Amino acid sequence: MSWVDNKQNQTSQTPSSMQADAHVLTKWTRVQDRLRADLGDNIWRSWIKGLDIYGLEQGTVMLGSGSSFVTARVNSQYADRLRMYWQAEDASVRDVKVNHKQHIPVMPEKPSLETEPGIPSAPLVKSDSGDELGGILDQRMTFDNFIVGKPNELAYAAAMRAAESDVPSFNPLFLHGGVGLGKTHLMHAIAWHIRRRDPSRKVVYLSAEKFMYRFIRALRYRDTMQFKEQFRSVDVLMVDDVQFISGKDSTQEEFFHTFNALIDQNRQIILSADKSPTNLNGMEERLKSRLNWGMVADIHPTTFELRLGILQARAELEKIDLPHKVMEYLAHKITSNVRELEGALNRLSAYASLFDVPITIDTVHEVLSDLLRSSSAQISIDAIQREVARYFNIRQTEMHSNRRSRNIVRPRQIAMYLAKNLTNCSYPQIGSRFGDRDHTTVMHAVRKIEDMMTEDRQMADDVVMIRSLLST
Ligand code: ADP
Ligand code: MG
Repeated sequence: MSWVDNKQNQTSQTPSSMQADAHVLTKWTRVQDRLRADLGDNIWRSWIKGLDIYGLEQGTVMLGSGSSFVTARVNSQYADRLRMYWQAEDASVRDVKVNHKQHIPVMPEKPSLETEPGIPSAPLVKSDSGDELGGILDQRMTFDNFIVGKPNELAYAAAMRAAESDVPSFNPLFLHGGVGLGKTHLMHAIAWHIRRRDPSRKVVYLSAEKFMYRFIRALRYRDTMQFKEQFRSVDVLMVDDVQFISGKDSTQEEFFHTFNALIDQNRQIILSADKSPTNLNGMEERLKSRLNWGMVADIHPTTFELRLGILQARAELEKIDLPHKVMEYLAHKITSNVRELEGALNRLSAYASLFDVPITIDTVHEVLSDLLRSSSAQISIDAIQREVARYFNIRQTEMHSNRRSRNIVRPRQIAMYLAKNLTNCSYPQIGSRFGDRDHTTVMHAVRKIEDMMTEDRQMADDVVMIRSLLST
């Protein structure tokens, strides 16, 4: 949730006296944290996370959601909790109101790793018992539940290999990729797999934040020796989201030592990050180069096929009756990452079971209006063509021309791909806007770019870049 966006959106909707000030925002953040701990990550993500706050006035907290379904659900299920936690933060609060903000465009949510726990991590107080170092493992994040497709097949194969072998075949294994694409899932899957195969092996999984937290605590209580011993006695050490270790010098130092000690003893190390080792900012050179020694496997953005596969598997697993048409629609519309896709599915299934109705495209519109709006954001084909042409330094008229030279064809295909992903237009409609091309040409282009994005980093980066240019 981004406050700046809300402020912009609300000016026409809400009196300015209703703007929340910084204090209220801070409180709201704390209330959110408590709700998340109380309700669990899934529920919190599906219902609470997306709520916007407008302000606190005369004892009433004003919240809003772009979805009428979410509004209704929050009011019926979570109103008491909201009030309770608000009152705990601010005794002056008497009431919490959640309203449906119709037609307020919801800005696309920017993935923020900072608030990304990935797993329901243990609270930051010392509550884990004894030498239990790691975080909690998510039951559902197993290899069985991981859908393999082109974008993640390399990472999957490497993870499987690490989980299967008693002696590391590569060390470290470094998994990287954007948010919500399955890094944490693969790490948990490795941990489950090893636990089952050989319970005597000591596997530790934890987030980089937790690693740092433990280290800083050890420094404070002057028991760094014990800290070191603990970590150096594990067989497999997994640290998730290591981009957070960068910058903090002493933690980096300690991480480096622990890392070296474990590698020297031939223990398996598995790391994840949102960037490749080479691109990790603020990471020491010697650490970067060491991270490159083993196996570096990246997870690419999802393709339509993978999204469809994941939806099918999830629907089956959770016994949600989802018509194929609806799955296709979702796989076309919700392209950001797998987590969003899951959130959408959670809501749909809650809706269907609550009202006992079949899920149709209409239901999808009603229940996911906020998500759909944010991912389609009404970008026009014209804007896409203009931006792509500018990016590749060609003339916009080439989008309609018959020229077949490579430096023209590729951008044109990218524009078609973006048109399919960012607008509601059908293949024939898109074809007609690109010099009256046949719909099969557009389909071919979309597929081609999807394939290329999984194989060609440059291509993937170009597309991501143009997308972000389009959404600003
Ligand atoms: P990351 O750690 O890369 O940010 P996660 O591993 O937390 O992403 O994945 C986000 C959600 O999507 C999780 O619930 C995970 O189970 C699910 N997910 C991601 N990739 C897949 C996949 N290939 N098959 C099934 N579920 C997936
Ligand atoms: Mg993660």
